[in-house]
Amino acid sequence: MLTMDTYSFANKKALIRVDMNVPQDEGGSVTDDTRLRAILPTVNKVLADGGSAILMSHLGRPKGKVVPTMSLAPVSECLSELLGRPVIQATDCVGSDAQTKAAALKPGEVLVLENLRFHPEEEAGDPVFSEQLASLGDVYVNDAFGTAHRAHASTTIVARSFPNDKLFGMLLQSEVDSLTKVLDKPERPLLAIVGGSKVSSKLDVLRNLLDRCDELIVGGGMANTFVKALGGNTGASLVEEDLLDTASAVVKAAEEKGVKLHLPSDAVVADAFNESANTDQCAANAVPDGWMALDIGPESITAFREVILRARTILWNGPMGVFEMTPFQQGTIAIAKAIAESTRNGAFSLVGGGDSVAAVNRFGLADQVSYVSTGGGAMLEYLEGKVLPGIAAVRG
Ligand code: AMP
Repeated sequence: MLTMDTYSFANKKALIRVDMNVPQDEGGSVTDDTRLRAILPTVNKVLADGGSAILMSHLGRPKGKVVPTMSLAPVSECLSELLGRPVIQATDCVGSDAQTKAAALKPGEVLVLENLRFHPEEEAGDPVFSEQLASLGDVYVNDAFGTAHRAHASTTIVARSFPNDKLFGMLLQSEVDSLTKVLDKPERPLLAIVGGSKVSSKLDVLRNLLDRCDELIVGGGMANTFVKALGGNTGASLVEEDLLDTASAVVKAAEEKGVKLHLPSDAVVADAFNESANTDQCAANAVPDGWMALDIGPESITAFREVILRARTILWNGPMGVFEMTPFQQGTIAIAKAIAESTRNGAFSLVGGGDSVAAVNRFGLADQVSYVSTGGGAMLEYLEGKVLPGIAAVRG
């Protein structure tokens, strides 16, 4: 496989799928440029080699129609500032304007194509549309992990037109490297921490992780289903009644596979789902009627911290409680801090999934873990053991 480090982009036009799907205010100004900064290493490498960059991305959900408020033009302006050089904007991603501007592109120049999802062919993975995109560049680079689980034209199908010139960008490469480090070549013990609201959305993740990890912590709302399946009283907590047998089966599978499964032993409970509810603490399996477990309790924090400190590789997906509300954020903060501490002691830690990433950012711990993934859905599918089409297309 080709790599960014060794490939020379000199005099080449690199067609790069990036993720410029950034949040904007009503006037179109970018309110968080994290995703733009994340693509700079790849773009700068292409330009430093003496190549030019043609960037393609989606923005929002225009559903196959031109929606002027979802134009990438304001985002390109922000990118231009970050790059410290002008950026040329095409009025469409295919067609004569894109073709003319791509053909005229000189080494060191950057062209941003208009929102890919203005065309229904993008999400449909249309081969003709893919070829139109492909005709603009000499080499294809995929640097968008967040859409790597979609077989869209720009993320997957377009790669077919570049059998000998396709590679991962630096961001996507580092995502793949971190996930490989955790799932395929972990230093042991490997600990997975899975939280969040529902078992149903992470069942395949749990199943796949049971085959790989040495220890598994289940926290957050989904732990209630396990606690109830084991005979506990969960009061008015979020429980998926239809998954009680499934939860029991996961507990049994963990035993059979020799995976140490850790569930919360105590909980912070509330008499309503809001910040001003009355709160209390109790055993996780003895939640009073009408009360709900909204965070892990202090005993669980101590126990989980010990497990985290003895792990050499840590994967974290999903908060331990309703961390958006102050009274129920202590569990998530404590787990994030313990992961940071374990990382300082030499463990490799990967945090992924929208809410755990939001949590480490919110609590100022993002730079204290080894890697923070940029992909929510893509990361989950990877953890489920699926082959992501965007990754397979570049490898294949
Ligand atoms: P997910 O998207 O599945 O990772 O779930 C994240 C959401 O789970 C967050 O919005 C949390 O507020 C929510 N959550 C975490 N713990 C609980 C809990 N004990 N009860 C209800 N919701 C929870």
